[in-house]
Amino acid sequence: MSRSPHSVLVVGSVALDTVTTPAGTVDDGLGGSASFFGLAAVKYAPVRMVAVAGADFPEEHLSLFRRHGLDIGGLQLVEGRTFRWAGVYSQDMNERETLRTELNVFEGFHPELPDGYAQSGCLFLANIDPTLQLEVLESMQAPKIVALDTMNYWISSKRDELLKVLERVDLFLINDSEARLLTGQENVLRAAEGIRMMGPSTVVVKRGEYGALARTENGWFSLPAYPVEGLKDPTGAGDSFAGGLLGYLAHTGGRVDEANLRLGLAHGAAVASFVVEEFSVGGLLDLSRAAIQERVRTLWEMSRFDPTLEGTR
Ligand code: AMP
Repeated sequence: MSRSPHSVLVVGSVALDTVTTPAGTVDDGLGGSASFFGLAAVKYAPVRMVAVAGADFPEEHLSLFRRHGLDIGGLQLVEGRTFRWAGVYSQDMNERETLRTELNVFEGFHPELPDGYAQSGCLFLANIDPTLQLEVLESMQAPKIVALDTMNYWISSKRDELLKVLERVDLFLINDSEARLLTGQENVLRAAEGIRMMGPSTVVVKRGEYGALARTENGWFSLPAYPVEGLKDPTGAGDSFAGGLLGYLAHTGGRVDEANLRLGLAHGAAVASFVVEEFSVGGLLDLSRAAIQERVRTLWEMSRFDPTLEGTR
């Protein structure tokens, strides 16, 4: 099987989410890291999904994945109930509380890569058990980019395994509180520096509505979030940010020079801004590349300035 340098492989969760925000409640909406990531990344590049769902997973979600061009050959459909997650957001939506995590079929999940998946050019190890992340990583054949996400649960309960994965990834996406938990550093800059010492050449610290801070091989890059007035549901923002970023990088041949990485991060921010405007994956469904590009450009317009003007008038 030949290599597929422009393909992205995601291993993560497929879920039915019950989410309450100040804008309302949605019961059993399509969610999970692989769903958000996949539906975002497929705007740019072919995406293969490895995940698990139960017998109760609605057929309409499977056809939605297919309609959007996702390769779901690695989505295992097994007896039992689909993974369910329930969360509630604070009034300003900066904080969320997990009300329920029902692992169901996710508990016995063992990723298996169908033929050809191991040759994907980019790999996104979404938030799952680091032991499984390592297994998938080991079965890949020289991917150009390996990116990783995790959560506080794994940082606390499987730290050693997580550190082993970290040694072998290029790009690590983490939110600010997790970065502090992983390093014990309160200062987010020090935390990102500390994480770089653990392996990844690029560390992206996601800071919700305050944007993202990246420590790359060349130094720091600070990116604002695209400002959204009608915020409805922040669920999946991080995964779709990763989807926009990795999709963009795959589409551009896996180039991770500073300029391309920065543009990729801007695509991630733009895609995430659409996701938070709707519940579940709603913001990704009719989203065009042109609409994303318009927000990428606006982000640039909003944050550029010319320091050479100082003292010239
Ligand atoms: P994000 O808002 O980007 O952090 O991603 C939220 C998604 O993560 C939701 O759709 C959940 O279904 C999923 N999720 C929540 N908890 C877990 C978990 N323990 N393992 C895997 N996925 C999870």
